[in-house]
Amino acid sequence: MDSQIHKIHQQLVDKKISCTALIQQKLNALKENTNNTVNSLLNDLALQLAAKVDTKIVNGDTIGLLEGIPFGIKDVYMLQGTYATASSNLLKNYKSPYTATAIQKLLDAGAIPIVKENCDSFGHGSSSENTIFGAVKNANNSDLVGGGSSGGSAVNVAKDYTIFSIGGDTGGSVRQPAGYNHVYGLKPTYGRISRYGLMAYASSTDCVGPIAKSVEDIRILLNVMSGKDVKDQTTYASAEITKDSISNAKAIKIVGYFKNFIENDAIDSKIKADFLTTIEKIKAKGIEVKELDFFKSDILVSTYYTLAMAETASNLSRLDGSNYGNRIDDKNLKESYAITRSENFSEETKRRIVGGNQVLSQGFSDEIYLKGLALRDAISENFENDFKEVDIILSPVTPNSPPKIGDSLKDPHAMYLSDAYTVGFSLGQLPTLTIPKGTETGLQITAAKNNDELVLKFANFLKDTI
Ligand code: GLN
Repeated sequence: MDSQIHKIHQQLVDKKISCTALIQQKLNALKENTNNTVNSLLNDLALQLAAKVDTKIVNGDTIGLLEGIPFGIKDVYMLQGTYATASSNLLKNYKSPYTATAIQKLLDAGAIPIVKENCDSFGHGSSSENTIFGAVKNANNSDLVGGGSSGGSAVNVAKDYTIFSIGGDTGGSVRQPAGYNHVYGLKPTYGRISRYGLMAYASSTDCVGPIAKSVEDIRILLNVMSGKDVKDQTTYASAEITKDSISNAKAIKIVGYFKNFIENDAIDSKIKADFLTTIEKIKAKGIEVKELDFFKSDILVSTYYTLAMAETASNLSRLDGSNYGNRIDDKNLKESYAITRSENFSEETKRRIVGGNQVLSQGFSDEIYLKGLALRDAISENFENDFKEVDIILSPVTPNSPPKIGDSLKDPHAMYLSDAYTVGFSLGQLPTLTIPKGTETGLQITAAKNNDELVLKFANFLKDTI
């Protein structure tokens, strides 16, 4: 698919459509809420911004590439004055007092936010069923889940309800729903985009990630949102990625893949066969392909969930009804905290808070949490060694196709295991892009830290190869 951003930009410049008409059209479509993707619509703000863009166009002023382009925001980001619910009862009526850095950069470039999007509550989940707004339905088959946790965002892009959406990826939440709905979704290198104003789930792997219909649109959005931010000390300055720099893949000589991801009982036979067909096509283009050894999927999943639960237990401890959210008063302060949290958090979120506090508690932390940290270091070291041998690592996004709505809720353990191929790259803080090609749920392209450019380059190459 070609760049939707360039296409709409041209239509606006050529006065084929007014920005107000465009925004109204998208708002009308979203209002139907066909796939349960909408937590709140930003009608007033969006139409106000659209009128300003129209005035500029009528006056003959030049408009920037993103000016007037409608986009969606996963409902875990702050956008001043709008609801930020995290799809939870706890924050159902909470309004953002400020705007997230990444979102502000898009606003500064003129993009127009139109919707806060449904997701798993606080990013906890892989199906977007763990939400007070109803399960998100897959864009291609409404009996299936939309994926998660950024399910609403991926479905909106797939259905053309938004031109792009901003998801959040802690352990796969941009890449997996992108794969389930056949669109592109990037988890950049950790720290490339500021997390300020993104509700913290697991701070050491949380990433802001764009979802769109083309590599070019992902490139544009990555450039706009990247950069050092004094409000997030893990950010760093990065060079702009130009269109030319990712237009040929000559620099990519060796591609690797994890043997144990593919030679595994858990992978669907069609996904496996399609993945191996892709590998053959890459080889046919003269690129060397190497099989790599990696940690077993269950080790990756348990390391990730141990650390993610510990971090989320700590991060969500601030949500006790004092400063944020729906407070329920009881006979004393302690009881008020308890009832506020037990009534307002979902089952999945409570499972994680209990699990996280357990692994952090005295007597357990050495055995479990510290072991998780040590494993994480070993995983990162494995990646460092791999990237001495290969330029790119290619993997399926998921071992299986999207489950039916309802199935994941019955079996949380199976849901955790469905993240087998995404969580490792999160622990390694590596740039990884889902492309809607190669297997039914797409492919992931990963490069070494800070090598986001190489990821996009290879995505362009695969676009023409498979
Ligand atoms: N499914 C994973 C989890 O529940 C990833 C979620 C995410 O990236 N926010 O932790």
